[in-house]
Amino acid sequence: MKRLRNFRTGGLAIAGAPDRPSEEARNAYLPAIATVPLRQHLGPTARCVVRAGDRVEEGQVIGRAEGRGSADVHSPVPGVVRRVSQVRLAGGLECEAVEIALSGAFTRLGKPKRLSPWRSMPRHEIVRTIRERGLVRASDGKPLADALSVFEDEGPCELIVVTAVTGEPKNPIEALTLSRRREAVIEGFEMLCRVLSPLSAFAVFDVEDLELAGSWDGAKGAEGPPIQVFTLPRRYPQHLPGQLGAALAEAKLTTEATRTFFIEPTLLAEVYDAVAEGKPSLERCVLVAGGAVKIPSVLKVRIGTSIGALFEECGGFKTPPQRVVMNGALDGLACADLDIPVTKTTGMVLALTAEETRTRPERACIRCGACVDACPEGLDPMRLYKLYGSRRFSLMPSEGLDDCTLCGACAYACPSRIPLAQSFSIARTRSPEGSR
Ligand code: SF4
Ligand code: SF4
Repeated sequence: MKRLRNFRTGGLAIAGAPDRPSEEARNAYLPAIATVPLRQHLGPTARCVVRAGDRVEEGQVIGRAEGRGSADVHSPVPGVVRRVSQVRLAGGLECEAVEIALSGAFTRLGKPKRLSPWRSMPRHEIVRTIRERGLVRASDGKPLADALSVFEDEGPCELIVVTAVTGEPKNPIEALTLSRRREAVIEGFEMLCRVLSPLSAFAVFDVEDLELAGSWDGAKGAEGPPIQVFTLPRRYPQHLPGQLGAALAEAKLTTEATRTFFIEPTLLAEVYDAVAEGKPSLERCVLVAGGAVKIPSVLKVRIGTSIGALFEECGGFKTPPQRVVMNGALDGLACADLDIPVTKTTGMVLALTAEETRTRPERACIRCGACVDACPEGLDPMRLYKLYGSRRFSLMPSEGLDDCTLCGACAYACPSRIPLAQSFSIARTRSPEGSR
């Protein structure tokens, strides 16, 4: 097991050992009404294939993928469609959603699992199954089947990297999956090896998770190469593929040309569930935390459950939150209300106190350069913000706007509390080239 030195430029040191809920995820209450967005992925909204009054089964397709970047959407509960409405998601995007009133018997929950003989499946059938089950990458919402097919179109994969590091050091979900669902992760990994035929496989862990990392070094399934484990000193945002790739290249383990596929352990377990057990994407493990939450917990939640219901299940708030965000304190999406539903890309919801959000009035830039030092992409956030402030959006791509991962490190480092990353996110929608 080798220790990597980390990425070369920028980032934020995150001190302290993890203070994580360590118990297994507990099942959240089923939602009486599940509000299921038809856009839980990167691409176009899925086409609604049900109407008000229809009875649906658990796992039935209610939205059909509309082309590349889109994914099928399944009913997370059995019930009756109340209506098809508009729903607001974290970050402010609105989309069509199917409201399902829970009733009737579950077809999967609590029933014995029937395993399919996946080892006799050819690779294209594994990819087809992954597509039909609607799996998407939580990090960016890209359908997993689309991400896999890139290697069909553009050449073979050389390396699979299992990303056991997380952006949020308190998030225990990947570590819990690796320790509690080891067999499912290994079989999911084998399935991907069948599809991608990589020459080698790495897993990268937070150096604080040394014991867990050691237990995975050399892990091997019946198919695919053994997994070589590396550890990284904790530095935000090491979980992003760009930074992980830079750390591996710095250690001369890869080059810029190495064709690498990055995947989180939770998604490997989902691949196993989808291919071996035929389970569509119906639920998520969600960390419910933040200084305003009474009892931080990890919950197994049906998609379509409101985030308000999750906070209630964690004892409610001990103090009114200053800000509620989804998927990260630094780079998460703001939640305007508590009716926002859990989707396939929800990994955590945080109710943050004023102290945690470090809210102070915005002041003028003092040209200290802290944002430049913090940027892991080597950008000049100060210069980008100047262009944003003068509404010269079309000049921002040439200053690297499209390389910005919206990680939020610059804004966190800024002593003047200028909302740098937030501004860059808005600029992306305004500049002609900015598409992400
Ligand atoms: S949000 Fe963009 S500009 Fe700011 S640190 Fe991250 S990559 Fe750099
Ligand atoms: S960190 Fe803030 S105050 Fe300092 S240069 Fe960057 S934008 Fe200006």
